[in-house]
Formats: sequence, C-alpha cells, structure tokens
Amino acid sequence: MGRRSRNTQGDRSRVTGGGSDRKPPTRLVTGGRRKEWTGAVINPPVWRASTHTYGSVADLRAGKSGNEDGRFFYGRRGAPTQWALAEALTDLEPGAHGTMLFPSGVAAISCALLAVLRPGDVLLVTDNAYDPSRSFAETLLKRWGVETHYFDPMVGEGIAELICDKTRAILMESPGSLTFEVQDVPAICAAARERGVTTLLDNTWAASWFFQGIEKGADVTILAGTKYIGGHSDLMLGSVTTRKAQWMPMRRTAQQLGQVISPDDAFLALRGLRTLGVRLRQHEESGLRIANWLVEQPQVARVLHPALPGCPGHEIWKRDFSGSAGLFSVVLDDRGGDDAVAAMLDGLELFAMGYSWGGYESLAIPVDPGPDRTATGWQARGPVIRLSIGLEDADDLIADLAKGLERFEKAACKT
Ligand SMILES: *Cc1c(COP(=O)(O)O)cnc(C)c1O
Repeated sequence: MGRRSRNTQGDRSRVTGGGSDRKPPTRLVTGGRRKEWTGAVINPPVWRASTHTYGSVADLRAGKSGNEDGRFFYGRRGAPTQWALAEALTDLEPGAHGTMLFPSGVAAISCALLAVLRPGDVLLVTDNAYDPSRSFAETLLKRWGVETHYFDPMVGEGIAELICDKTRAILMESPGSLTFEVQDVPAICAAARERGVTTLLDNTWAASWFFQGIEKGADVTILAGTKYIGGHSDLMLGSVTTRKAQWMPMRRTAQQLGQVISPDDAFLALRGLRTLGVRLRQHEESGLRIANWLVEQPQVARVLHPALPGCPGHEIWKRDFSGSAGLFSVVLDDRGGDDAVAAMLDGLELFAMGYSWGGYESLAIPVDPGPDRTATGWQARGPVIRLSIGLEDADDLIADLAKGLERFEKAACKT
C-alpha cells in the first residue's frame, strides 16, 4: 500500500514527502499527508462515507480490481482519513509493507493471530503477555484447534528448543504487561525465522517509537493505538503492521472479519500521532525521575522499569531501545496489604484510578501479576501498583505519591 505501490488512482505525489529515508520525527509529521488526501489543508479531513459513487460503469468495474488503500470502493475499505493513518503508522516501522486498522488493540491482536494460525498449530506466547491475549488463546483459539504454550520472557535464543514441527507462530510483548521484562526480540525472531515460524510483537509500550519491531526482526507488529498513539484518553484503536509476506493474508482476514474504524477516530489518532515524539520525551523524562525517586523510598521493595538496572532484560533494553515510556510498576513493602494499598490510592489527587494508559493524565492501579503466570510464576510478596506517568509536573506527581506512601505506611503499621 501507500508509497510502496503507486499503481492506484490519481496523483500519488506526497505533499511534503515522508518515507523511511527521513528521520523519525520528520516521518511523524509528514506520514500519510498526501496532497490528494489533504487537499489544500494540513490534516486529511474526516471523510464520513459508506457509499463511494462512480461516474460510469467502467469506473465501477475498475474499482473492484486492486484491493489496496488509496482506491475508493466502499466504506468498509476506508477512505482518505483511514488510509492516511495507516500509511503514517507504516512509516513508523522501517521495513514494513502496510498497516491494517482495528477498533481496539484487542481486535488487532485477535485478527493478527487468526490470520497466521490454522487448526492443529501450536502457538508460543510470552508468559507476561497482556491478559486478553492469553484469554483469546485459551478460549477461541483452543476451540479452533490451536494449542498454546507459554514461555519465559527471558528465554532469548533458548526459544529454539521450544519450537516443534507444529509451531506456527510466536507472540511476543516487550516489555510485557504489568512486570515489564524486556525480551530479546532479535534473538527470538532469528531462531523463529530459521524454522519458518511467524513472529508477532505487541509493541504498544514502545509505540513503534522507542523500538522498531520489524527492523529488529519481527514479521508483524501490533499497537494498541488507544494508548500513546491517541495519547488523550478519548479513543479506542488497534493496528497491525506487517512485512510484505504477511500483508495480503492479514488484510484479507481483517476484511473478512469486517474490521473498519470510523474516520473520526482515524482523525483523532492522526492528531495524536503528530505529537507522539514530544509527548513521549516528556513521559520518559518524568517517568525516569519518578521511578528513580521511588527506588529510594522505604515503602518500596522494587521498581519494575526497563530503564532501571533491577528490571529483568534491562541490558537488552539498553541494547535495543532508544528510550523508555512512562508506564512501569512498583512493588511495595510486603507489610502492607489490601487496606494499605487502598489507603494509598484512594487519597491520590493527581493520579486517577482506571484501566488503560498512555494519555496525558497520570494513572495508578493495583495489579496482580501472579494468577496469569504459568511458565514462570511470580515471586514478589508485596502488592504491585502500576503507574502511567502523564504530562503533569513531575514534582507535583512526586508530592502526591509521597503522601500516598505515608498513608500506605500508616495503614501497614496498623495491621
Ligand atoms: C491496552 C493494551 C492492549 C489492548 O488495547 P485496547 O485498545 O484496550 O483493546 C493490548 N496490548 C497491550 C500491551 C496493552 O497495554
């Protein structure tokens, strides 16, 4: 799609360029802004459409041929607003061929797995995967005749020993949900490639910004655009970006499942995307300050942040990533139970409590990594809090957390 296949209707010339020869911040600004999609304005407008009309029978017949973005056909195949977003997301992953859009991150993960797997296959999934990814494997994929085995996120090239004749695909997530172990994606992908196994990476934490998954060896990268791409907590979005070999099967599966996103959501996502780089710079800076402050607090047992030496896979993060996101976890002192956690979180003024993350506002939630582990187990005894550091002033956030930790301490002493 996009600049990779120019045999589509109309003038394909870009308004300001783009393409993987430019540096990432430039690609973020120029991605998807083709002149025939934007007209004379800067942003591709919201094209609200189900029916696309044709001027002649010949045009109508021609419209059927060529299943690619940039061709008007019918609303389910999108219009310029969605095409622009897909192209801009493809531009984030050097080596990628195209991107399909989904109404949520979970829809993107499910479709990506369905496109790759067949009944009788074995799927390997990292033990720290996002909970709904596991639940999809354990229910729908199981009914569909796919068996799932979980692997230690730190397995690295040892993945080779887990690959059997029936293994069709590997689902990685690096760093993983809740506990943030960083995987050796290049080593896992190299071992998989040797055996003809397809590799998929949930790249949501790095937002295809701090880590380019396809360049590092993955066949397919997946984003929950709900998080940093949208960035403003007002939109649900998923995307699947693939190399050329996986592209048509992925596209056809998404189309057969009827997946399409609204042009309004595509517009919001494009608006969020343009500031991804500057927002992440601040999320990173504040996240690191707060993580380093937390390490020093007596109520804190461990901070699970890929950029901190105590985090499993920290050396891999240093080797492979260009920075760190504002999402990490804190293991608190094991003297504090549920009441102490509630005392801490209930009184926070700047940190809201709620699922999701990656917006401009800070969030804190209690999490329990234990029950989801099957390959590795979870040893920490203290309660775990996950923090999403927003764009508020870091000193204000630290003051809020400091009072929270005092409340935690007081409640812990009482029990
Ligand atoms: C939130 C999240 C998803 C799912 O995204 P939704 O848009 O909420 O469906 C997938 N993977 C990771 C790592 C996430 O954090």
